[in-house]
Amino acid sequence: MVRLLRFLKPYRRQIALAVALVLLQSLAELFLPALMASIVDEGVVTGNTGHILRVGGLMLLVAAAGTGAAIAATYFAARTANGFGRDVRRELFRRVSAFSLQEMSHLGTATLITRTTNDVTQVQQVVYLAMRMLVSAPLMAVGGVVMAIVTDPQLAWVIAAVVPLLIFAIVAVASRALPMFRALQDKVDVLNRVVRELLTGVRVVRAFNRTDYEHRRFTAANRDLTETAIRVNRLMGASMPILMILLNMSIVAVMWLGAVRVDDGYTQIGDLMAFIQYVSLIMFAVLMVSMVLIILPRAAVSAGRIAEVLQTEPGIQDPPAARPVEERRGVVEFRNVSFQYPGAEQPALQGISFRAEPGKTTAIIGGTGSGKSTLVNLLVRFFDPTEGQVLVDGVDVREQSQADLRRYIGFVPQKAVLFSGTIRDNIRYGNEDATDAEIERAAEIAQALEFIRNMPEGFDTKVEQGGTNLSGGQRQRLTIARAIVRRPRIYVFDDCFSALDFKTDAALRAALKRETQDATVIIVAQRVSTIMHADQIIVLDGGRAVGIGTHEELLRTCPVYREIVISQLGEEAVA
Ligand code: ADP
Ligand code: MG
Repeated sequence: MVRLLRFLKPYRRQIALAVALVLLQSLAELFLPALMASIVDEGVVTGNTGHILRVGGLMLLVAAAGTGAAIAATYFAARTANGFGRDVRRELFRRVSAFSLQEMSHLGTATLITRTTNDVTQVQQVVYLAMRMLVSAPLMAVGGVVMAIVTDPQLAWVIAAVVPLLIFAIVAVASRALPMFRALQDKVDVLNRVVRELLTGVRVVRAFNRTDYEHRRFTAANRDLTETAIRVNRLMGASMPILMILLNMSIVAVMWLGAVRVDDGYTQIGDLMAFIQYVSLIMFAVLMVSMVLIILPRAAVSAGRIAEVLQTEPGIQDPPAARPVEERRGVVEFRNVSFQYPGAEQPALQGISFRAEPGKTTAIIGGTGSGKSTLVNLLVRFFDPTEGQVLVDGVDVREQSQADLRRYIGFVPQKAVLFSGTIRDNIRYGNEDATDAEIERAAEIAQALEFIRNMPEGFDTKVEQGGTNLSGGQRQRLTIARAIVRRPRIYVFDDCFSALDFKTDAALRAALKRETQDATVIIVAQRVSTIMHADQIIVLDGGRAVGIGTHEELLRTCPVYREIVISQLGEEAVA
């Protein structure tokens, strides 16, 4: 909670204003019963109409001031709480955007979403309530006690008897509710995760007839959340009547004892009426504090979850002073690079060294899991190597600013990711300043022009979320066009040709060759035909480079490569 306080700083003035207004409102409420007592005892009982009118007028003024203050206080409190929520969400989003893949997978997408939405709302509510109640309630409680004692010290003993009971009841409820709130937030996470998995994998779920299974999984998570929520609410619900009974019993006690005292002439009717109002004021004040105290633990849990995200340092950060790169040519160099995923037993890459130059194509081939994607991820600095160095244009990528580095790289990931928007928007994503002509050209090179033209609205066709209204190959070609429109110095294609048929693959590579004449091209592929004409081919096997050279050289020297070629093109290709 404390760690989120800094987000309240910009709202100091509004908070002060709201607190002052709330205090004003509380004072008015404390003052009103005394005025009423005066009307009853000195006006009604003695038949003094002038007094009734005078004090009545004053009462109206005080009440109006109190109401006005209450309205204004609500306004400022709501503004502050919502502004606070917005600021925290913005900061969370900013922080999460900077996370590397590692922090992402460590925390998990589902909980990051819950924390940015639901948890912020919890804390925001407490900020609002605290501003409304935390300052006014103690004042009302203490003020109420003082006024009650002034009104009738003897009757004040009733309050002394009831308040400890009240506090005991509140503590009992709060201490049981606290652990339940923690569980509640975790269960929201679980539900969120199940729904996400179901929605993103809906086709697989259907294809494998697992709908029932997923339903059961969802039902279980849903029921679990519901039951916990019901238990918490039952507890909170039970506490309300208990408190009301306490309140009403103390009023009964005050009336009983007070009636005797009025009879005996120790106190007056008006004072007794005022006293009853003070008792309610005090009890409501305690109630308000307890409400804040009860939701405070829940908000504290949420605040802790938010702070955890805010305190997670992105594993990949810009250097304090980025080293300038003299000339962006696009030379990529791996120097004895090893990489091990955190928690993995085996390194995913070991001792990789190579150099990729402008105007040349470097291909990477190897079986699944041999480390191809890992290698290109190191180049765009999604991870940092455990050992060795990755240099771009002679400077270690860790010494460059990430934005600067990536500006010159056109990266096509293995999994085609599209965003909701039009096809044009998706290609332009690679380069905001691209003209329509440039976008069309990029699409043409990526062999996407034909199918785009055949779509009902051409480039303005809407892409559904995740690109589900396009085929895998079409999606892949759009991501290629997105990289091309960027006109980068370095192209990185991570296995993105595998989803294309042979003919499109060949046509695309031919068009690309013309376009990328002076750029550095790094192609990851499974098919020998895709890469056999590359200037150098790196053969990966179990994270090691078992061969580097041209197609012909490797055929002679690298048994792993020979095997791949034979399995795909047959014995005669080797001969
Ligand atoms: P390729 O692209 O050649 O199919 P990858 O580079 O994706 O292979 O993976 C290389 C190895 O690293 C595999 O053994 C895989 O299990 C492991 N690996 C990949 N990603 C992760 C990750 N995020 N965490 C842990 N291990 C990973
Ligand atoms: Mg891969």
